[in-house]
Amino acid sequence: MYPPMEVGGEEVVLRPSLCPHHALLYRSRGRSYRELPLRLAELGGQYRSELSGVLGGLTRVRAMQLNDAHIFCTPDQAAAEARAALEMIRQAYAALGIESARYRLSLRGRGSKYVGDPRIWDQAAAMLAGILDDSGLAWEAGEGEAAFYGPKIDVQVADAAEREATLSTVQVDFYQPAQFDLHYTGADGSRHRPVMVHRSIVGSMERAVAHLIERHGGAFPDWLAPEQLVVVPVSDAQDQAATEVARQATGLGLRARVAGPDSGTLNRRIRSSRLVPYQAVIGEREATAGQVAVRLRDGRRLPPLAADAALGGIAAHVAAHRTGLWDAATSGRPGRPA
Ligand SMILES: [Zn+2]
Repeated sequence: MYPPMEVGGEEVVLRPSLCPHHALLYRSRGRSYRELPLRLAELGGQYRSELSGVLGGLTRVRAMQLNDAHIFCTPDQAAAEARAALEMIRQAYAALGIESARYRLSLRGRGSKYVGDPRIWDQAAAMLAGILDDSGLAWEAGEGEAAFYGPKIDVQVADAAEREATLSTVQVDFYQPAQFDLHYTGADGSRHRPVMVHRSIVGSMERAVAHLIERHGGAFPDWLAPEQLVVVPVSDAQDQAATEVARQATGLGLRARVAGPDSGTLNRRIRSSRLVPYQAVIGEREATAGQVAVRLRDGRRLPPLAADAALGGIAAHVAAHRTGLWDAATSGRPGRPA
């Protein structure tokens, strides 16, 4: 998309997608059917020459980090790989608190931008439709929304204004393996053409972050929150106890800090940390007893608890990658949906 750059006698280009690179990695040596499915995943940079008029915030940018993978497999393995990718998307959305607006089977439309044999298009579309049917998800077909080389499943999300964007995609591609002349040696000793499954679980980091900020209003699931715990001593006298609790929390892998009296009144400190999932308030009584009074971001206040128990409960909830917040009443029952 961008003009080549001349660097040290070589021509360098910015890649507009990761697919060709992964195809070349695959082709860098001979492959046997025993290596398949071969899954190459990358959080990689790609570049689109969008005109300035269509750029928008983090959702439409020229340089993005794509959460992308290409699975090279036999034709018989393709449906299972695509199904597994859909399941992985479901798990990621559950952990991130993202709701899909709809699943779209993006098909070829009219026009000359689509390449390849129409029978192969039909074969790939039928496979993807079968996977969507089996998954029990509601889906609809979108004519003219396919990539130029094949149909795909697009997972659409909507913003506050109900504008839809594609966040995740799964494609079963019979075309690019031929274009890149990819092979594997089959059990019969002869050469076969692999299938490429393109799998992007949360799309570009930029668009995913934009969507998450909007979806959660900055109040991210606890495992994702930039700060997970703020320790709030009521007065200077609890500074040492607060520092110790924050140190313990950090030791458990939590992102924690102390908001002491030097950063304002108690109310002000609590208010300015309102997007942090957990606030551990320590007054004189708590400091003496080795306890914390935990306030949850949603306004709930827990009775004073031993600091160890509270931090352990929060750390376990964070490690489970769930939405919702830990509270003392639900801890010890990890199977319960938050
Ligand atoms: Zn791709």
